[in-house]
Amino acid sequence: MKPEIRDKYEVVIGIECHVQLATKSKLFCSCDNDSREAEPNTNVCEVCFGMPGTLPVLNKRAVELAMRLGKALNYEYPEKLHTKFDRKNYFYPDSPKGYQITQFDEPIVGEGFVEFPLEGRTVRIGITRAHLEGDAGKLTHPEGKDYSLVDLNRAETPLVEIVSEPDMRTPAEAKGYAQELYNLVRYAGVSQANLYYGNMRFDVNVSVRLKGAKELGTRTETKNLNSFKAIERTVEYETRRQIVLVEHGDRVRQETRGWNDAKQQTYPMRSKEDADEYRYFPEPDLPPLVIPRAMAAAQGHFDFLPADLRVLLAKVGISPRDAEVLVGEPELARVWYEAHKLEPKHARFVFTWLAGPEIKLREDHGPESQLTPRILNQVAAMAAAGQLSSTNAKELLGLLRAHAADPSKLASERGLMQESNEGELAKIVEQVMADHPQAVADYRAGNQRAFGALVGASMKATKGKGNPPLINQLLKDRLG
Ligand SMILES: [Zn+2]
Repeated sequence: MKPEIRDKYEVVIGIECHVQLATKSKLFCSCDNDSREAEPNTNVCEVCFGMPGTLPVLNKRAVELAMRLGKALNYEYPEKLHTKFDRKNYFYPDSPKGYQITQFDEPIVGEGFVEFPLEGRTVRIGITRAHLEGDAGKLTHPEGKDYSLVDLNRAETPLVEIVSEPDMRTPAEAKGYAQELYNLVRYAGVSQANLYYGNMRFDVNVSVRLKGAKELGTRTETKNLNSFKAIERTVEYETRRQIVLVEHGDRVRQETRGWNDAKQQTYPMRSKEDADEYRYFPEPDLPPLVIPRAMAAAQGHFDFLPADLRVLLAKVGISPRDAEVLVGEPELARVWYEAHKLEPKHARFVFTWLAGPEIKLREDHGPESQLTPRILNQVAAMAAAGQLSSTNAKELLGLLRAHAADPSKLASERGLMQESNEGELAKIVEQVMADHPQAVADYRAGNQRAFGALVGASMKATKGKGNPPLINQLLKDRLG
């Protein structure tokens, strides 16, 4: 597409995100919330199977986690929040009740916002609302067969659906917003947030309009994306597709679409229903909830959220780009945060390890590590005191990661300590000068290369453990 045509249009993007909450049991019964390993239709009971005459019992923990997420989304809870559940009526084989229990006009989370850095600026995306609901079951369509299979293990697992304002304008903003939600739910500890297992799924709404137009264009909703790349690509693809339609005088159909990852294309699934077609009405089997502000506040204590971490990292001189490497690793961010709290002066050293070798080691050997914030600080202190070269500090941390030990003792045993005793090194340097009179004479006659030879001989005499800057200084002092 020619840039001058593309530039005539503005893209408007909103995202709905389903987050599976990290409760033990499902939303309305005591079945396990995690049925990844279970055979189809074994993690079910009469309630989540939708038997007539059964009654749902609301999971208190799901309500608490939803409130915690609300705080992370910057929702200001009122003095008393009135929230209730509603029935969304539709027929589909993955929902045997014939309706979904969700929240319509009184959600558990109201207006908030999410902020994240992007290309040197801060992007703020409004949150319209977030509500609690039970998930549907799973349908599979066996290849070449004329039937479909229904698995209700996933039915009624607790979800929060986070609805954004249509505030995003570029594929990068859509991707950045989704990534920040991923960060937030992990920092807040409200979800396992495993994208592969669908713990977070994104529906992306895209429409285009001529720049300056007040009315929104007709939007499409591409459903069930579970990667940030797919979100970015979906926005790119829909933008192009819709602009071509409008340029040709055709109209964009309001519809639900899917994403074909192999073809890198969206495809039409069904025409979009309007809300009134669902005949929402208050769920008669669950009483409304009244939540006092203090109760919501009690769920919303965070040592730090991604935004706080970014501020701390900037304060110790970490660039925004480097900071994001650690921000994207909540477990390592926690280690850094604790180490920084104990000993702020080693914050950069600890960051360099965690955002570098540690991430690589986690990929290769798994997340188990014996490195505590205290040990990281101890090694940092040894490096700062000149007892460890940076190479040896890394080697020592690698050893300590696998087996807990006293850092100084292990460094001595493994011969990693750097000789920084000035008196000892001075003796060695003087001996080297006595042993190499020609090099000394050459240096004094102006041959700079002779200096390197003397440093080399001194390092050799210390078996490579001498502190190089100190040896340089001692030699310079004595050579005059
Ligand atoms: Zn159940």
